[in-house]
Amino acid sequence: MNLFETVQEMGHEQVLFCHGQDPEIKAIIAIHDTSLGPAMGATRLWPYVNEEAALRDALRLSRGMTYKAACANIPVGGGKAVIIANPENKTPELFRAYGRFIETINGRFITGQDVNLTPQDVREISKETSYVVGVEERSGGPAPVTAKGVFLGIKAAVKFRLQSTHLEGLQVAVQGLGNVGSNVCHLLHESGAKLFVTDISKEKTAEIKRQFGATVVEPEEIFSLEVDVIAPCALGAILNSATIPLIQAPVIAGAANNQLENEKLHGQMLVDKGILYAPDYVINAGGLINVYNEMIGYDEEKVFQQVDNIYDTLLEIFDRSSKQSLTTNEAAKQLAEDRIMRARKVKTLALV
Ligand code: NAD
Repeated sequence: MNLFETVQEMGHEQVLFCHGQDPEIKAIIAIHDTSLGPAMGATRLWPYVNEEAALRDALRLSRGMTYKAACANIPVGGGKAVIIANPENKTPELFRAYGRFIETINGRFITGQDVNLTPQDVREISKETSYVVGVEERSGGPAPVTAKGVFLGIKAAVKFRLQSTHLEGLQVAVQGLGNVGSNVCHLLHESGAKLFVTDISKEKTAEIKRQFGATVVEPEEIFSLEVDVIAPCALGAILNSATIPLIQAPVIAGAANNQLENEKLHGQMLVDKGILYAPDYVINAGGLINVYNEMIGYDEEKVFQQVDNIYDTLLEIFDRSSKQSLTTNEAAKQLAEDRIMRARKVKTLALV
């Protein structure tokens, strides 16, 4: 990889390499863009096959955070940190050392918990720096907020694609009945939607069937159902060359991260099939909105007001995508870049 060329192409402001001997630590912090505010992004610990793979992950995920925050209209920028380590070897000292690195950046980067970190690990980081969120569950966890955003996103997609302002009688298939998926089912049921659900856990499907009268299907059946909406709330990369040909639903709107296996190819395949796709990082921004509000002082009313914006933002994205013949992912990026450019102009004017 040509490091500076890659960083320049992707538009990163800064990449920091943190290393130490005692304890041994190797971490990369990528700060993509701070036009809207300090860079925010959780820390992932992963035994990457090599350093280039770790760097690529940090660069890609931090850029994603910039777009996510801009579309959610919250004043933070995009960042991401990766610690290169085997999860079996993590120690409190490792996280203390990592926390000291975060502190040296002086608030330009604020982090939290991602893959292979526990709330206890985050508490260790917080012993060395205050630039960390999710130390206490000040809000009761992000899932209900994320689910509300997904529910509003489904409503926006149904309005745009099916010209209906209500969900009564609509058939919705939900893949994954975990923290977010179960809350989405609750909201859909309350609105009169008919649910088709799947999960690899039999207990979870049984519970949703009991609570909401959902029809349970096998995991491999979910994409081929003749329903109005598919809401992926389990895994990433589930929209791919194998699943897209099976899909009959006109709308895909769900919480899972990185749903398109290949953004360009599979985004276009969905357009070609006339399927409206709600970009995952826009519809699932409730989690980010939640941690941002934990940071500034949690006010539930404000949180849900910010989540309500997901509805209008998605309508704007769908409209752009249809008027300019873009995939919805491309339209979302364009909207984010417009908002970032506007913020930069305001900053420049303030300096003149
Ligand atoms: P979770 O782990 O609580 O739930 C995931 C569920 O998916 C589990 O019940 C699991 O059994 C099920 N599952 C796994 N493989 C499956 C398969 N092949 N078929 C059907 N079901 C399967 O996770 P969550 O917090 O509910 O998050 C769901 C998705 O939303 C994830 O992709 C997550 O990254 C994303 N997301 C979550 C939040 C949040 O606030 N929790 C925020 C943004 C994005």
